[in-house]
Amino acid sequence: MKLMFSCKDIHDRASQFIDGDCSMLTKAGVLMHILMCGNCRLFIKQLRLTVASIRQMPDKQHSDQDLDALADKILAKTKPAELEK
Ligand SMILES: [Zn+2]
Repeated sequence: MKLMFSCKDIHDRASQFIDGDCSMLTKAGVLMHILMCGNCRLFIKQLRLTVASIRQMPDKQHSDQDLDALADKILAKTKPAELEK
């Protein structure tokens, strides 16, 4: 387990990180990376906002599986190279 994550590592773990579904070491690694990397900070922020706004939609309940599937779709469309712009 490495402590310094690359942008691709952040991309791969973003969904787990936002859900709080990761180890303390992973959480610490992601936090350390996004402190130094503005692109990943923005990426995590946008993904978190997207998930939060879907959770707040009043008339339709979304299960965790729906949200995981959506997060996966967003992640699939965002290539790690785009994080380095
Ligand atoms: Zn990064």
